[in-house]
Amino acid sequence: MIFSKNYFRRIYFILLIFLLSTFSQSKSNQSYSSDVSGFNDLILGPQINKRTNWIGNKVVNPSLEILILAGHADSQGILNGSGTSGEAVALKGELSLDKNISDELFWNIKVRDAIVKLGKRRGLNIRSYEPGIRKIIDPNDERTNWSVGAKNVKKGGYSLEIHFDSYGKYGNGSGLIPPLSSKLNNIDESLARSFGRYPLFFRGGLGAPRRGIRILEIGKLEGSLERNLRDLQSREKMIKLIANKVVDAILKGIYKVDLFNPKLDEGNIFLPSSYP
Ligand SMILES: [Zn+2]
Repeated sequence: MIFSKNYFRRIYFILLIFLLSTFSQSKSNQSYSSDVSGFNDLILGPQINKRTNWIGNKVVNPSLEILILAGHADSQGILNGSGTSGEAVALKGELSLDKNISDELFWNIKVRDAIVKLGKRRGLNIRSYEPGIRKIIDPNDERTNWSVGAKNVKKGGYSLEIHFDSYGKYGNGSGLIPPLSSKLNNIDESLARSFGRYPLFFRGGLGAPRRGIRILEIGKLEGSLERNLRDLQSREKMIKLIANKVVDAILKGIYKVDLFNPKLDEGNIFLPSSYP
């Protein structure tokens, strides 16, 4: 029997509606469980799809100091530093949400703050850093995200910078970009399993990973993810959903929930331990 493309499209649509209705039921119970498998991927869009072979398995202390940063918070108006303007502004001619900053930074800040708020409530030793100045030319200035994030890493903490990836062919999708200068740990592993796994030395080793700072790409700023964020009816729910997915993954990493029950594709990971 031959099925047409439309047939599969219809099946996909029915599945999407089913998952959305499952979600709206759990919503009424004040639960934003990220364990509705597949749902978040439908909402966040594609995950990074590149072969990589790292694994995080270093045990972390539950009282580990976690620092959450909003990507591009200190590099507005600097060449390649502003972050993506998103599909809505770049391609659809919509207005940016705040004319002083990129749409990506607008969302990075909201997600950063939601993660810290929820993380505190769930017992994490977590805080954010806000540079306060939107344009700091020297990346090594002590007030930049990178300087403050690197300092936290040197003290044994965990620094995570929130980003949204570019739309269309300019982006790769959601996932964790691992650091280059620290041992990869169970939180890295858990975030990678939840969001996707970028290769080490992605784009030759970006500024943050070189300083031990992790980058979390939430998703490409396009399509339904961007629409749901822009829509005032769904904005709060989306931000809470994203924050919950991040905090869940951090907690799972700290308490090693599910991490020793690998579900990854064979061949995706072949190293028994992390790179040094
Ligand atoms: Zn970014």
